[in-house]
Amino acid sequence: MGSIPASGTPGDWRNWLARMVWDHEAASSNLVSPTLFMKPTHFKTITGLQIPLPVFFPDATRAVLKTLDSTDIANTKTPGILVNTFHLNNFPGTSVIKKHNGVRNFMSWNGGVISDSGGFQVMSLAKSANSKKNPVTDEGVNFKIPGTSKKILFTPKTSIDFQMVLKTDMVVVLDDFTDLDANPSKERETVERTILWAKESKKIFDQHCLRSNLEPEQQPYLLGVVQGGYNLELRKECTERLVEIGFDGLGYGGWPQNIDKSFNFEIPKVIGQNCPNDYLLYGLGVGKPQDIVGMVKMGWNIFDCVLPTRDARHQRLYVYNADSINKIDIQSKNFYTYFTPNKEIYAHDTNPVSTACDCLLCTHYNRSYLRHLFQIGDMTAGRLATIHNLRFYSLLMEKLRPIYENL
Ligand SMILES: [Zn+2]
Repeated sequence: MGSIPASGTPGDWRNWLARMVWDHEAASSNLVSPTLFMKPTHFKTITGLQIPLPVFFPDATRAVLKTLDSTDIANTKTPGILVNTFHLNNFPGTSVIKKHNGVRNFMSWNGGVISDSGGFQVMSLAKSANSKKNPVTDEGVNFKIPGTSKKILFTPKTSIDFQMVLKTDMVVVLDDFTDLDANPSKERETVERTILWAKESKKIFDQHCLRSNLEPEQQPYLLGVVQGGYNLELRKECTERLVEIGFDGLGYGGWPQNIDKSFNFEIPKVIGQNCPNDYLLYGLGVGKPQDIVGMVKMGWNIFDCVLPTRDARHQRLYVYNADSINKIDIQSKNFYTYFTPNKEIYAHDTNPVSTACDCLLCTHYNRSYLRHLFQIGDMTAGRLATIHNLRFYSLLMEKLRPIYENL
């Protein structure tokens, strides 16, 4: 058992307590876990909301869900959104967001907000530049802003500093993405750098909280991200070392798919088994409804993805295979299907898109009209389809809640 921390953040204390109870449990296996280890039941916002878990936050990359305003989002019973650090740092930038005292006020949104680290976009830009020099060093990621000659060094500090300006409810640390085809030494290198950056990010985050006199309940969550590619031993090691540093939760980093494109459930299993029960578990960029169902059954509780909004704009609407909301059965194998309004057969179809949905589209308009709006290229089509898909996902999370609570 480690020594009692003389001071430190709530994360440090939780870490110490977690180790203490683990040691205690190992010595007396008949003991029931104390309540300290209950899995999280809510996602708290820095504005004082308690949102029941599990949650799905759609991607409002540039502080907007395309075609919707913030009241539209709220009307779909979507409890929170994800915003992108890299894009918002570029535009509108720090001074505008500061003027509004955070991204929530900026977009007049009252729900939860998570910011990503910006790492995914930065890594993609840096690696696509085809430079002979490795753009990723222990210091950060070097890259050129597209369409300009401006060169940037994006560091763990850049990411944390801007996320604290955004004033989001969860701050995600910068990690070094392990490519799927990475060899063992590259896998090791990315994990070591991920740990190094995680330590640095934690230090910078704690300094921000201290400088701003933030009490524990006013602090956003801090999330570490687990890397290591397909190497389960390395994933386990990365998880344990991040827990040692002390976070509020961990994210499933890297592509969550196997080479054959099937979803990889082995990695989240290893991550979940090697961190304290009270950690938030975040499936970054996940995903498809069936993948979310599978991960919630393993105790994962936060998800974000571009799928429902992007698919809506491309005429792909998610529809439950049920007559009514009460009859939705997410435990059945094919619990949903896609509705694509561009087909000729819908030209005279006066039925709603779905009777197992209570969204604006399904309660006010029919398939024929939606098809017409898409055919003439009116923006209203995108808005109504996006509203519907977001309600599909908020219903999915409502249906998953009892399953999660009974784990
Ligand atoms: Zn609907």
